[in-house]
Amino acid sequence: MRLWEKVDAKGKVILEKDAYHAIIVSCYRFANPSIMKSKWAEVQGILYGYNKDGIVHVTRAVPLAHLSSVAVEMDDNDYVLVAELEGEMASHDLFQVGWFHSHPGIKLFLSLEDVKTQAGLQAPNPLAIALVFNPIYLMERESDFGFKIFRLDDPSTIEIKFHEIPWEIAGTGDGFLKESKMLMHGVQRFLRGEGVFDTIQSRLDKTYKKMNSEIFGLKTYLQNKKKTATTEEIFNSFTKHKARIEKLFNKKRESIDIQVMLLDYLELKEMLQYKDRIDEIREEWKAYKQTFTELLMDVEKTIFDST
Ligand SMILES: [Zn+2]
Repeated sequence: MRLWEKVDAKGKVILEKDAYHAIIVSCYRFANPSIMKSKWAEVQGILYGYNKDGIVHVTRAVPLAHLSSVAVEMDDNDYVLVAELEGEMASHDLFQVGWFHSHPGIKLFLSLEDVKTQAGLQAPNPLAIALVFNPIYLMERESDFGFKIFRLDDPSTIEIKFHEIPWEIAGTGDGFLKESKMLMHGVQRFLRGEGVFDTIQSRLDKTYKKMNSEIFGLKTYLQNKKKTATTEEIFNSFTKHKARIEKLFNKKRESIDIQVMLLDYLELKEMLQYKDRIDEIREEWKAYKQTFTELLMDVEKTIFDST
């Protein structure tokens, strides 16, 4: 991916796909058409990675917090979590290479507050970057990834003077932007603001209930049918209904798989606070996919083995 025609490619930034997705999911979650514009919140997070030969490699983006006020500030508790995260990243030889935040619906630039934050990072690490993302640009513009990366001209002064840094997203092809936008549709449907777990849990419960009742219904129907119909008729009926139930489940599975995947992109605090619940949901869903197959097999066995 190009996008730096106007700037020198030296000192560019290479983003991993997953880091880009963590940024866009976490930011779009709090600023998208399903939320009233006055309630849109700015999201801020940390970029982790490493520098090599003047190139900044961003391998992880960790969303920290969302705030509706313009300046994103962190409390003491956040700093403790960040310190812990830093330790974990360091054990993988990753360190903070910059930060990201969103400008929902507004231009991509560094405000005075942003300049202060960036100066604090760039003074000790001249390659430190500030990534600013506007989810609306991504969604509404034809071929726009929705973000820019900046550095201050001179981090020793608090002057609003900065320049754009060229970037690329590693290993992506033509379909990547489309794929990313698809993910945004998932966010808008399934990951709206807070209360994420209740939404997912209730969808899972409804799906289990619906599928189990479909399968139970089929079993009862075929057991009754057996009294009067031929084996061939029962077999045809079973095949037809099995295909219908599988089709229904596949549709649900597709959307739940997206929802479960989106749990990778929650904010740091949620990730830590709800770690057990996230694992539980993942396990539960994985187990149900197996259960579903077994239940259908059980119908087949019950109907055809006893004849
Ligand atoms: Zn800003």
